[in-house]
Amino acid sequence: MTNYDILVVGGGPGGYIAAVTAAKYGFSVALIEKEAQAGGGLGGTCLNRGCIPSKTWLDNAETIERVKQASKRGIDAQVVNIDMPAMVKFKDRVVKRLSMGVGALLKSWNVAVYNGTAVVHDLDNVVVTSAKDKENEVVLGCKRLILATGSRPATIPIPGADLPQVLTSDDIFNIQTIPPHLTIVGGGVIGVEMARIFSAFGSKVTIVEALPRLAPNLDEEVADALLKSLKSAKVTVKTGVKVEAIEPADSDAEVNVVVSCNDVTERIPAETVLMAVGRAPNTEAFSELGLEMNRRFVKVDPNTLKTSRQDVYAIGDITGLSMLAHSASVMGERAAKVAVQSLNGSDSEEFYPFPIDYAAIPSVVYGEPSAASVGMSQQAAEEYCAKNSLTLSIGRTIFGGNGRAVASGMGEGFVKILVASGDCQTRILGIHIYGPMASELINEASVLVNGGADVKSLASVVHAHPTFGETLSIALHDALGGSSHQPPKK
Ligand code: FAD
Ligand code: NAD
Repeated sequence: MTNYDILVVGGGPGGYIAAVTAAKYGFSVALIEKEAQAGGGLGGTCLNRGCIPSKTWLDNAETIERVKQASKRGIDAQVVNIDMPAMVKFKDRVVKRLSMGVGALLKSWNVAVYNGTAVVHDLDNVVVTSAKDKENEVVLGCKRLILATGSRPATIPIPGADLPQVLTSDDIFNIQTIPPHLTIVGGGVIGVEMARIFSAFGSKVTIVEALPRLAPNLDEEVADALLKSLKSAKVTVKTGVKVEAIEPADSDAEVNVVVSCNDVTERIPAETVLMAVGRAPNTEAFSELGLEMNRRFVKVDPNTLKTSRQDVYAIGDITGLSMLAHSASVMGERAAKVAVQSLNGSDSEEFYPFPIDYAAIPSVVYGEPSAASVGMSQQAAEEYCAKNSLTLSIGRTIFGGNGRAVASGMGEGFVKILVASGDCQTRILGIHIYGPMASELINEASVLVNGGADVKSLASVVHAHPTFGETLSIALHDALGGSSHQPPKK
């Protein structure tokens, strides 16, 4: 048996950041990843079949849309062919390059990487079995264990869910032909992003969502804007419907997605169905530890990431606290620091003076335009201000008035800033951006929400012209009484 100070199970954005953080403090660290291999495999869901593949294809979708719009700018160009196998190969190259970068990062910090599936019997008995060499098990031991095994696509128990035409996000990034009709079950983040990708590729896309609203986790105004943009891209969106079954159709290539709403049944034909109904945590590998659970997720202290065992930490998707890559990394860094401190025999909070503010972690639904948010939705801010006798001011601006956006042919969308005042301080509760570069602007917005700086001093920051980011400054001035770039408030 080989012993390490800290052992990390899972090489996604949670696990590899935890491993590097712990190694930085001079401890012996090993990471076990079942998909690691000589040419890549590290980086977890995010890098191999999530964030990066989807954004590679979103960029392809945007390129197609921009070429189609080019004639308006006096440029004759057209999309002659969309070569799906070539797009898969390009995505594979992107993934491989970044995944090898993760491998190199771990190596640079002397983190030992074990390629295999871990089963945790206890901290002194972690068995790693390689897919290549099943006979040859390795047994590892550790003083502290960080669990980062991530999640997999959830399924729904309906007839036909196992038909070959039914894919999940694990399969769709290797698809070799563009389906003429794609039906997406689930109108959440994956559903919306994939609808935008495949409608640009030429599929006729239908989204079927069980709840009355698309993207139910988003600010309502932003979700409405997304719905409008999907409709203008000719995506059919059916909300408040129940998916009953997926049936083989007359043609071998097709299936029918059977949905019902108010006792009316409809059959939606499709060559491909994408299941995007959420994700389930991977917790089987450490079930013998008997950790306390919160429904299907591992129960942790959100600030220290300690589980019900003091020497075991859980991070990322398996905690259910926030299923985002950057959240997993923040949790990974924190768990590693807490583990390092406990190995040093100190309980001081010097290494982690701030609680992780999950509400202030930004999120983005990518597309053209993207929807990005940080902090409270308008509805939550209204309730919060009413409860705490605060005044809520809503600052707004539109990209239609932003020079850079209009020059780029991207004048659709808005910025909304929610500012609370009345308790001797003025605070930004939330920022919502629906428009061009939203996924970049949200990082400045996060500084505004998290920064703790005086709001008036934030408003005095000069933004370069012409930039998309001027919208943030204008919306903030609007919330604080009015911007000289806008007509009087009504
Ligand atoms: P994971 O990334 O899932 O990594 C867990 C790793 O553990 C995996 O590599 C797995 O192989 C390994 N593992 C599991 N069990 C074992 C075992 N027993 N032994 C050894 N190894 C094991 N988030 C964003 O922030 N931005 C985005 O744009 C974004 N886009 C997404 C798009 C899609 C289509 C999907 C599906 C997800 C997307 N996400 C996005 C979410 C993001 O991918 C996850 O939140 C993130 O990957 C979670 O990180 P993690 O480290 O917790 O787990
Ligand atoms: P999600 O929770 O965002 O959406 C799932 C949707 O499916 C919900 O709207 C839900 O009401 C609906 N649904 C559930 N059961 C259904 C049924 N039987 N019929 C019809 N609709 C049903 O989950 P997701 O879209 O699968 O994404 C999973 C996670 O991955 C998200 O939580 C997100 O955190 C992460 N992700 C993030 C990004 C990003 O940051 N840009 C992109 C993709 C995924």
